[in-house]
Amino acid sequence: MGLIRNHYVGRTFIEPQQSIRHFGAKIKLNPIKDFLKGKRVIVIDDSIVRGTTSHKIINMIRNAGAREIHVRISSPPTAHPCFYGIDTPAKTELIASSHTVSEINRFITSDSLEYLSIEGLRESVKNGGCDFCDACFTGEYPIEPPVDLDSRQLTLFEREIVI
Ligand code: SF4
Repeated sequence: MGLIRNHYVGRTFIEPQQSIRHFGAKIKLNPIKDFLKGKRVIVIDDSIVRGTTSHKIINMIRNAGAREIHVRISSPPTAHPCFYGIDTPAKTELIASSHTVSEINRFITSDSLEYLSIEGLRESVKNGGCDFCDACFTGEYPIEPPVDLDSRQLTLFEREIVI
């Protein structure tokens, strides 16, 4: 193992302040220098949200002596927020909403970056027996998102107030 994960530290992307997120990324993973030194490393992650955590991890691996770092993401780029219960940030904070893959590659300072395609994702779940939501990748929301896109979540029940 090149990185040891500290399971006592929570997920970093839900922390509200940038400084806290950076601190989270740093203490959550510890690089094993003897293992990483001089190696060509492939980092596989499930998503890139803001890009700040990935940047921090790549820096950490590079500082541990890795020669090359190639990042592979097992989902398409997360370019749209979720309004159905997953705590993603607003669209403007999602790096893939305003940057190309090569720009994200530059931002996180990896040597190469590739994502799973939307076709590849759909192919991988085609035996699931139902149509899955893929709105955070495609922007095609199965239920209309709020008109006010700053809203973080859909209101599940509209209450009628009778005076
Ligand atoms: S796939 Fe749909 S429900 Fe799941 S996180 Fe993305 S927008 Fe939310």
